[in-house]
Amino acid sequence: MRSVKDILKSNVLASKTLNADLKTTPYTDPGLPIANQNYETTDQLNPAATFKCPICQDRGILLEGDVAHPCSCMLMKKMENQFRHARISRVLKNCRLEKFRFDYYAPEMLDKPHCEGAARALNAAKSFVEECQQNPHGLGILFTGPVGSGKTYLAASIANELMEAQLQVLFLVVPDLLDELRASYKSEVNEMDLLDTARTIPILILDDLGAHNYTEWTRNRLYSIINYRMNELLPTVITSNLSLDEMEDYIGVRTTSRIIQSSRVFRLTVEEDIRHQMYDEREGKK
Ligand SMILES: [Zn+2]
Repeated sequence: MRSVKDILKSNVLASKTLNADLKTTPYTDPGLPIANQNYETTDQLNPAATFKCPICQDRGILLEGDVAHPCSCMLMKKMENQFRHARISRVLKNCRLEKFRFDYYAPEMLDKPHCEGAARALNAAKSFVEECQQNPHGLGILFTGPVGSGKTYLAASIANELMEAQLQVLFLVVPDLLDELRASYKSEVNEMDLLDTARTIPILILDDLGAHNYTEWTRNRLYSIINYRMNELLPTVITSNLSLDEMEDYIGVRTTSRIIQSSRVFRLTVEEDIRHQMYDEREGKK
């Protein structure tokens, strides 16, 4: 994985190249007919245009006299793309809320509680995706439930849909995060990169906050992520197969308490592990 610092560095290089190019070549958009090459002309033609970036009005550059500087939105976009490719696994990229399958929760429609729990969790996921686009500082979600109950599916769907809506999301699998933090223990630079990014990214997904081998040191790192995000009102989506009591035992009372304060909690249950059901489907046993 490339560190955030590397990403920033390469972006600065790209910006310098852009600056150099801009000084010699006028900016043109090959997608537009010659008469519309000037963006201001385009804006005048379409005064109701709304911009994703109000600072640069989606030009990607800011002019200071004759000198063009890259807008901060370009850096954000670049980082977002890095995370999009680096962080969400291939198998989870296709998860979408609209493809959520209730039939896994009620085989023969006999088990209503499973289905009701799933419906509440799905609705919460949908509301979260909508709310994040209106208000970036709402509550997060904690999905609890046994292994194979669809928690990661919901969390990955949320991540995918928010990324599609151009929001910055970081999807971290907790055991991998712990490994990375341990591995970066001796190189402070990388550790700060990962920790800082996890702390400050607008939306963080922590998948599988489970019964891992937490040390006092990793517990403290986890606390610093959760605590920072709670104080800055940055929403976090967490999946865990631990009960709240177990969570206190594994990651500590103060971190668990902050998760509860900053999240809505939804429990998913199933009769049979969904991965086993999918296996049976695939192998034609249903
Ligand atoms: Zn901009």
